[in-house]
Amino acid sequence: MQFHHHGYVSTDPRTQDAAGVGIDRPDELPDNVDVLIVGTGPAGMITAAQLSQFPGITTRIVERRGERLTIGQADGIQARSVETFQAFGFAERIIAEAYRITEMAFWKPDAANPANIIRTARAIDDPTGISEFPHLIVNQARVLDYFAEVMANSPTRMVPDFGYEFASLTNTTHETNSVGDYPVTVTLVHTTGPKKGQERIVHAKYVVGADGARSGVRDSIGCTLAGDQAFHAWGVMDVLAVTDFPDIRTKCAIQGTTGSILHIPREGGYLFRMYVDLGEVAPDDNGAVRTTTIDEIIVKANEILHPYTLDVKNVAWHSVYEVAHRLTDRFDDVLPDEIGIRSPRVFIMGDACHTHSAKAGQGMNVSMQDGFNLGWKLGYVLDGRSPESLLSTYSAERQVIAKNLIDFDKEWSSLMAAKPEDLKVPLEDFYTQTAEFPAGFMTQYPPSMLIGEATHQAIATGFPIGKRFKSAPVVRVADANPVELGHHHRADGRWRLYAFADAANSSALTAWAEWMRTADDSPLLAHTPAGTDIDSVFDVKVIYQDAHTEVDLGQVDPAFLPKTGPFGLIDYEKVYAADPAHDIFEQRGISRSGAVVIVRPDQYVAHVLPLTATTDLAAYFRQMLLVR
Ligand SMILES: Cc1cc2nc3c(=O)[nH]c(=O)nc-3n(C[C@H](O)[C@H](O)[C@H](O)COP(=O)(O)OP(=O)(O)OC[C@H]3O[C@@H](n4cnc5c(N)ncnc54)[C@H](O)[C@@H]3O)c2cc1C
Repeated sequence: MQFHHHGYVSTDPRTQDAAGVGIDRPDELPDNVDVLIVGTGPAGMITAAQLSQFPGITTRIVERRGERLTIGQADGIQARSVETFQAFGFAERIIAEAYRITEMAFWKPDAANPANIIRTARAIDDPTGISEFPHLIVNQARVLDYFAEVMANSPTRMVPDFGYEFASLTNTTHETNSVGDYPVTVTLVHTTGPKKGQERIVHAKYVVGADGARSGVRDSIGCTLAGDQAFHAWGVMDVLAVTDFPDIRTKCAIQGTTGSILHIPREGGYLFRMYVDLGEVAPDDNGAVRTTTIDEIIVKANEILHPYTLDVKNVAWHSVYEVAHRLTDRFDDVLPDEIGIRSPRVFIMGDACHTHSAKAGQGMNVSMQDGFNLGWKLGYVLDGRSPESLLSTYSAERQVIAKNLIDFDKEWSSLMAAKPEDLKVPLEDFYTQTAEFPAGFMTQYPPSMLIGEATHQAIATGFPIGKRFKSAPVVRVADANPVELGHHHRADGRWRLYAFADAANSSALTAWAEWMRTADDSPLLAHTPAGTDIDSVFDVKVIYQDAHTEVDLGQVDPAFLPKTGPFGLIDYEKVYAADPAHDIFEQRGISRSGAVVIVRPDQYVAHVLPLTATTDLAAYFRQMLLVR
């Protein structure tokens, strides 16, 4: 963590100085806001947390509930989400309180006595080391708390505005199409306090509907969720119980003769969640299955677990739901015949545009990646760094990802619901063979204004263009600390440019660094706003092939040792060397002639270029960043 460079800090350095709209932030919801986010679920909160890092932008996040979420909903946190939490600065703390999944056990009827279940297999959760981050289980409420903390400690001092329900919106973009206006008029209704029931009108430049599966924002832009109902119901319960089931602290898929259970141990050492199969639902059931009581769910769980028993002592939360796989065809308010003519003003994300079963543990995770994708783009457009066309990439990128998720989830849910003897692929094989998907690392964005063509992919094969930047160990030259290169990527809205040095005398690197510092078309000079630190938009780092002891800091180009802050202090944390024990050049297939890897603010690899391809580098950024 870097701090003190604006002067001595004696308090928690995680709390940033208030700046911009964070100074004297009004408690009351203002009449005009840049971004109005509806819903404080994972999608809305990560979007707010990202925008909270942009001090010039007024973002407010409204929520129908009168206070924070306390219980229930999702709990599965894939490694990609933990990686994202790392960027927001709270991975270590949430890991410490969460349950960590290392193994999954599979139980089936005993062939000799099918009334009894027996353990038939165990599978390592991440057998190939997809990520250095763990797979966690922790309640959604805690995730939201951490994002709230990030917002509160940010320069904008953002806090959710509880007690406002979204009612409707009108968008006058067609009449006043300019960012200076507030073309979206939103009607909210107070849900708590003395003004309960009264309307509150807010004008916004952009509205983000993160208001869940029954999204009103979605309806207001004429989007509908299309898809199919699986006609299969599940009871879910978070309980404390005494049991003789031996794998009670291990994640299990349990397939009995009378149904199946997905068993998930929870944080804290005692609590666990069971998704209990309630069987097929008749098409004319009309939701009657949702009246299934907790006692009935417990009876069913005991039947499936036979010969083991479950004596439930305390029910923290329970719910009944039917699996529905549904998706909207667009994630913003631009109709198909308006694409390329106007930019979006209203966006939807998370469950508002994709719903699926809970058992692949994806809902919260994919929803957060929607928000991480959109947050920085809104920040860039509103800050005047990018043209509005950047915003069209949100729907284009995320809609396809949601479609893939739904296809995956349909397969997983139907396997979970099937009888063991009917399965063509054993459940445990499907689980391990497809591990990259539920871990959150299969996302690969296609070429666009944000994603370069793979022309030079061969010089950095371990950083596939369009996929998230997979970290690797390096040594920080200044203090000989072994660190993970990717973990320095904070969710601060900046781009990362990693210059991997060429071998021997690094002549290509030297020329590249000089171009970056001096050429008019270098992104540093073309797109860094005047009056800000030279690394305020681009965090430029170098990684040498030699051991750190061979790198002379005195000879390192100033492009990698920028002077920043009011005192013009040198930032020493941009110069790295390969760790001889885990050579990043070997591990990530980096050419010994060097390479430049460009990483977006949301951690996706945007482009790979040779050190000599400065014209291409300049052209890449000119597509989506305005000249300062
Ligand atoms: C009851 C329930 C149980 C769930 N159980 C599981 C589970 O067991 N496992 C699992 O993996 N996933 C579960 N999910 C799904 C998972 O929680 C979601 O996939 C995830 O939360 C999606 O995040 P989101 O931000 O898109 O939406 P949500 O987390 O649903 O957040 C939407 C937010 O918007 C607010 N809101 C809604 N309408 C309005 C309005 N008109 N005005 C203002 N605010 C509004 C809501 O109060 C809520 O806070 C459950 C969801 C629900 C609702």
